[in-house]
Amino acid sequence: MAGYSVEERAAPHSLEYRLFFKDGQGQYISPFHDIPIYADGAENVFNMVVEVPRWTNAKMEIATKDPLNPIKQDVKKGKLRYVANVFPHKGYIWNYGAIPQTWEDPGHKDENTGCCGDNDPIDVCEIGSKVCSRGEVIKVKVLGTLALIDEGETDWKIIAINIEDPEADNYNDINDVRRMKPGYLEATVDWFRRYKVPDGKPENQFAFNGEFKGKDFAVNVIKSTHEHWKALIAKKTDGGEINWHHHVKLPTQSHLKKGAVGFRGSTACPRVQLPLLWELGSEQQLAQNQLTSGSITRKTKAERWMVKQLCSSHQEATTCSNRKIASLSARRPCL
Ligand SMILES: [Mg+2]
Repeated sequence: MAGYSVEERAAPHSLEYRLFFKDGQGQYISPFHDIPIYADGAENVFNMVVEVPRWTNAKMEIATKDPLNPIKQDVKKGKLRYVANVFPHKGYIWNYGAIPQTWEDPGHKDENTGCCGDNDPIDVCEIGSKVCSRGEVIKVKVLGTLALIDEGETDWKIIAINIEDPEADNYNDINDVRRMKPGYLEATVDWFRRYKVPDGKPENQFAFNGEFKGKDFAVNVIKSTHEHWKALIAKKTDGGEINWHHHVKLPTQSHLKKGAVGFRGSTACPRVQLPLLWELGSEQQLAQNQLTSGSITRKTKAERWMVKQLCSSHQEATTCSNRKIASLSARRPCL
């Protein structure tokens, strides 16, 4: 399952920064939907998409609502988000990321925590010795889990180790972490409890009194979030603004240089000018611009096709949002 690569657009630590994923054939893919949950088919070895390398602070995450779900930096009140250094820690204290094809359903009340999901793929803290890079896809062995309640939402944190770590064979369950990396689990609880306190938020809470659950429990949690993801994709569950329009193909750099050459005369539009359009503004702004008409002047066939896609995805998202509000009101205990 090797062969994933990433492609950066715009400068890191800018609002426009995006990290796109490609498969072994160079096709753009979604790290949320297109990378398989399992690596090598082994039941407790999963793929992990690294969003935040250890000891860094920028809150980078898979953009679940954007086409192709690139990694981007979280934004709050118009500002890029960074986690504070919670003494004595520096940045995130593990390689932090997500397991693809999982989803913590915000409409589903977790039987263990009594809270609903946080609307994201499930989070992973990778404890191996290597500092991974942003966008790396690694294979991890699951060791346990911590049930964080983050501002009233269930937010499972999976503890795992890269199977390529030289020590990986020695780690098979949560107690191995306790034995061979003394203090690391305590530091993990401490980190999650206090990481938002410097931003003026209260301490986070945990289910099970902040105790870690072992490997089997963790694997079951992941499997259940995989089932929720399947229901989302099958549209059995309303995902609100979650974007699964990952069939949209981005052009290669050489396509970009050539502009629209290659599209002329074709009836279908296999490749589109998405990154070029993106530089003009967000998906919503683009759709809005086109709806109010005239603001996009370079209307190649490819651009017109793309804008149509963006408009329909925007309208669909809006319709979904309205439906979500109605359905969430019906499920009030979760709010
Ligand atoms: Mg989460």
